[in-house]
Amino acid sequence: MIGGQFIHSIKDLIGESKEKKKVELPKEDEQPHIPTKQEEKKQINTVPKIRDSSPSILNDTVAFDCVLVEGKRDQDIALPHTEMQQQKKAEDLGESLLVRPILNTTQTTISHASQTPSFKSQSQIIDGKALSTKIREQLAKQAEKFEKKNKRKVGLAVVIIGDDPASHVYVKNKIKACEEIGIKSYVVKRDINTTQDQLVEIIQTLNESDEVDGIITQLPLPRHLNEAEILELIDSRKDVDGFHVENAGKLFTGQDSLRPCTPAGIIELIKSTKKRLEGKHAVIIGRSNIVGKPIAMMLLEENCTVTICHSRTKNLARHTKRADILVAAIGKKEFVTGDMIKNGAIVIDVGINRHEGKLHDDVNFEQASKVASHITPVPGGVGPMTITMLMANSIKAASK
Ligand code: NAD
Repeated sequence: MIGGQFIHSIKDLIGESKEKKKVELPKEDEQPHIPTKQEEKKQINTVPKIRDSSPSILNDTVAFDCVLVEGKRDQDIALPHTEMQQQKKAEDLGESLLVRPILNTTQTTISHASQTPSFKSQSQIIDGKALSTKIREQLAKQAEKFEKKNKRKVGLAVVIIGDDPASHVYVKNKIKACEEIGIKSYVVKRDINTTQDQLVEIIQTLNESDEVDGIITQLPLPRHLNEAEILELIDSRKDVDGFHVENAGKLFTGQDSLRPCTPAGIIELIKSTKKRLEGKHAVIIGRSNIVGKPIAMMLLEENCTVTICHSRTKNLARHTKRADILVAAIGKKEFVTGDMIKNGAIVIDVGINRHEGKLHDDVNFEQASKVASHITPVPGGVGPMTITMLMANSIKAASK
């Protein structure tokens, strides 16, 4: 039961059968509002605690009804476009789901996300936005094929609880990606007072729906909700975030599964450099369940020798200096400096960190780009690939 009524269908969930209440979403290209220190202090008692594993940002809470929201065009994950994102026209990529397009990465002068002055980068930039565009074109063809064959679109349900503004921007970007590719998005919005039982019923309804192939709950959930229980409740065949323990176990044991999106995107980014992965020493900083651990498993699958570093690792630079491939997933602004990087390494920067009202990466880009052979920018690196892999997983889940 939800709000005293039984849920009968996906239409009930998204509110199509009731009067819809318009929810204001952030405008296109808008960044999430980053609260000032004073605002944060004021809100501290009214907001859910941010989870360590989430890139989201906190704000106050507003209650609203459920509504189906549709977007028009995808963009980077809650971050502005860069000039790099306009480069490189897409090419036709063949038929496989997880395509391996090769980009001509370029040596370039860029203006960095943190709005530092332009500088000459010695590294080749791994352009996640351009790679994303190529893969999305291929995914759109697969989505069209699915629709022709099944007389319905691939369906992705996104459940969002509460009013975290960053989460709403992320959801908006996912909806736009769905629309661009031809996936039908079902957005289930509920206010912060939603109970665990109500959320359980939402997930159960989505699990049973024939129109929904993939389900994600936007994290972080409010503190009073049991996130682990909800993630395990999602049917593992519809777990397009790849967080379910069954999918994690399959990844660990080398079986085909729905893989977590950020690590899956990182693998595509590394492969786009055309560098041979086999035998390379990959060092990962971070051991979270959503990035560090799964990317370690995936690089192991690619026959890399893998080292996982974390907050208790002693003499971190000794490890990172030996990395042919360095993945930084720490969540600390410009934590990785140039002197921690081996000459000619591939550097993947996963970090999205806020500092004094701006978004920053985990790697000091200016220093790193003088040492690395290839490097991902923030924005325009890992972020867009994460959403693209979510779309790929949705089509994969629908096609099974
Ligand atoms: P997390 O907080 O769950 O994990 C951070 C990891 O960093 C931990 O395992 C910890 O051991 C390690 N760490 C912390 N301090 C360290 C230190 N001093 N030395 C070595 N290791 C240290 O974070 P997460 O969810 O894995 O995310 C990491 C970053 O990636 C965050 O900035 C997050 O916002 C970002 N992120 C981006 C995307 C994307 O799509 N671009 C997706 C997920 C996460």
